[in-house]
Amino acid sequence: MRYALEREVAIAAVQQAVLLCEQVRREVVPSAIEKQDRSPVTIADFGAQALICRALADTFPQDPVVGEEDATELRQAPMASMLNQVTHYVQAQVASATPTTVLDWIDHGNGTPSPRFWTLDPIDGTKGFLRGDQYAIALALIENGEVNVGVLGCPALALGDEPPGLMFVAVRGAGTEMISLTSGTTQPLQVVADSLNPRFTEGVEADHSNQALQASIAQAAGITQPSLRIDSQAKYGVIAAGKAALYLRLPTSKYPNYQEKIWDHAAGVIVVEEAGGRVTDMHGQPLDFSQGAKLVNNRGVIVSHGSIHDAVLTALSGVVVQEGA
Ligand code: AMP
Ligand code: MG
Repeated sequence: MRYALEREVAIAAVQQAVLLCEQVRREVVPSAIEKQDRSPVTIADFGAQALICRALADTFPQDPVVGEEDATELRQAPMASMLNQVTHYVQAQVASATPTTVLDWIDHGNGTPSPRFWTLDPIDGTKGFLRGDQYAIALALIENGEVNVGVLGCPALALGDEPPGLMFVAVRGAGTEMISLTSGTTQPLQVVADSLNPRFTEGVEADHSNQALQASIAQAAGITQPSLRIDSQAKYGVIAAGKAALYLRLPTSKYPNYQEKIWDHAAGVIVVEEAGGRVTDMHGQPLDFSQGAKLVNNRGVIVSHGSIHDAVLTALSGVVVQEGA
């Protein structure tokens, strides 16, 4: 299989990061919640980025990693105890880790987009992570603007009878698989175009998309059921697994100039496309991953099983999104 080594290394790295994030969620989140303290996110974000960057640097030292985090703040003296906590959780996966290696691994994720690079969101959906809801660890390989490998770890997602914990893995031209993180059971995914009672999915955070517009567009496309609100790129996994027909992410008037980040979409896009689904922006254009860290050429994101996609684009064609000052 093309990209066999990339796939294997990415899966193993995301699995390590899942274990770290879940350990932090069990041990640190409960006490932080009362104090409105975001430190568990910081610990898990840095720890997950360190583990994944270490694995990529080991096997693919030439590949830049464009990650969401860097270690600048963590290198400052007042952050010493935080660094020790991050190191402690990284050591549970890689016993030889030290504060110095952890900082270097995190900074390996400070790369710049180039003809071939990886993009990483160590914790996508940080609010869901803190709330005890969904979050995802998202890793993708981008070559010449095309996403060719994607791994999406969704530690809290359950779609069938198995306990929570799913990973979605896609390789360009080779399909998408859903792997249970608890049993290792692997299932190829192929979306079914038509469903009797289609559902749509959208984010939980009202600030990240225009939920009122999304409700009216979904209705115009024939969806009568209420939305499934899910944090993070787990939404792409839900579409690939056939549990929803449509994911809408339309710009909100609160942040009309928001530009989507590549690490918030790259892994999800290939997971859905290789399962037979479709992803475009709100104008029907493919997401353009060739422009650096942001999707500067796109507005909004529409993800679907395919058959409903054109009806959604038609419903959107009359909508004017207000441009900010
Ligand atoms: P979700 O869980 O679908 O709301 O997506 C979480 C992601 O939304 C985060 O990783 C942020 O990078 C991203 N985000 C933050 N602000 C906005 C915004 N104004 N519009 C769209 N996405 C945003
Ligand atoms: Mg994110």
